[in-house]
Amino acid sequence: MTRPDALESLVSLAKRRGFIFQSSEIYGGTGSVWDYGPLGVELKNNVKARWWNAMVRERDDVEGLDAAILMHPKVWEASGHVSGFSDPLVDCKACKARFRADKLSDAACPRKPSKKPGEHIDCQLTEPRQFNLMFKTFMGPVEESASVVYLRPETAQGIFVNFLNVQQATRQKVPFGIAQIGKAFRNEITPGNFIFRTREFEQMEMQFFVEPGTDMEHFERWKEARLNWHLGLGLDRDRLAFHQHTDKELAHYARAAFDINFDFGGTLGFQEIEGVHNRSDFDLRQHQEYSSKKLEYVDQADNKRYLPYVIETSVGADRVTLAILVNALREEAVEGEQEGRTVMGFHPALAPIKAGVFPLSKKDGQPEMAERLAAALRKRFPVFYDEAGAIGRRYRRQDEAGTPFGITIDSGSTANDSVTIRFRDDMGQIRVATSRVAEVLGRYLEADHAQADSRLVE
Ligand code: ATP
Repeated sequence: MTRPDALESLVSLAKRRGFIFQSSEIYGGTGSVWDYGPLGVELKNNVKARWWNAMVRERDDVEGLDAAILMHPKVWEASGHVSGFSDPLVDCKACKARFRADKLSDAACPRKPSKKPGEHIDCQLTEPRQFNLMFKTFMGPVEESASVVYLRPETAQGIFVNFLNVQQATRQKVPFGIAQIGKAFRNEITPGNFIFRTREFEQMEMQFFVEPGTDMEHFERWKEARLNWHLGLGLDRDRLAFHQHTDKELAHYARAAFDINFDFGGTLGFQEIEGVHNRSDFDLRQHQEYSSKKLEYVDQADNKRYLPYVIETSVGADRVTLAILVNALREEAVEGEQEGRTVMGFHPALAPIKAGVFPLSKKDGQPEMAERLAAALRKRFPVFYDEAGAIGRRYRRQDEAGTPFGITIDSGSTANDSVTIRFRDDMGQIRVATSRVAEVLGRYLEADHAQADSRLVE
């Protein structure tokens, strides 16, 4: 089954509601760079916080790190990026467009009528040549080859070069991991599909250092753990699938690799959102050689020293955010209404705004009571106060922002100190004492996804 293409409606909703804007839009935009607006930054921060909690805070065998973007240029020689981080590029001499030679069948010639590159009669595609994807810049005031540095194309190398620093500072014993979240930059030849493939993006990477020989067992464990993490975000099970790298796809140093793919619908279909890799001791061995510094782990208990193998989990914060947006978007009919509604059905824990607070009327002390409640709730999570317009329209605006709860203050509220909580997904309502609202919402926000779907309170 091919799911419908949600990207087009998503791009316009994302702009209209302030999830995502094109970078430097007033100047015509920067190629494949995007800015996160007020709702988008909350959503992406929630994704990152969830990853950090699952990978670092809830475990005692993974440590956090925040390494710099600019690194010693030798790092990228050792890692193989200077010589090998490239894609095959073909130019078209007729229309001047550039394409990835290995993705020609997915690309479109910019000319009309729309065809694939090479299919117009006068297309003139060159032979493929290797194009390095790293952005170069200069460190210091002199623009010369000796001062070239790179914007990191992945966060992982910051972890490898700090392996012994972290191990010695924390006295962790192998097996243990190091995790970090940070920006990465790739001068992609054919970026696109909104925030799916961009030139500046954020990665959430974890390197788990293990004794050689135990690597495949850890690999299997991490594969399952990472799939479960995506399920916990509320991504539909049937939209997620593992893709095992074939011998042709596998990097020469890798012992095994699986991608976690998500079905974005339309022509994009199933695409990688995360990679889980068994990288052997390749990276530590390379850095040991290029830096001439011993990077071995000393196992004092067993009197052994060795270079650990590394199981890597690498996921794009932006790509997962796109998967969450695609998974959440739904248009539905509403009984008794002509217009229907657009709902972003985010897991409550991911929703940018947790609750809308609405006085039904501007009289009878309702706004004052609503503002008091909103101020109290804001101490715990983001809340949106709205007293403008018909209540139905106010609900619809929050449905579109993905706000899971609507709290309405009506004429009964001031009399008996209670409010209604409306649930975004089924539009059902419950009445609770004002003093219990924070506690009730807190229980929903902490629930796992399956529970969040059902009523926790009567
Ligand atoms: P692809 O095959 O899509 O180019 P990759 O295999 O090069 O991806 P990795 O180097 O394994 O990707 O990066 C790990 C993760 O980082 C990817 O699964 C993806 O979520 C994210 N990522 C990589 N490149 C980009 C990009 N240009 N824009 C957004 N996210 C990206």
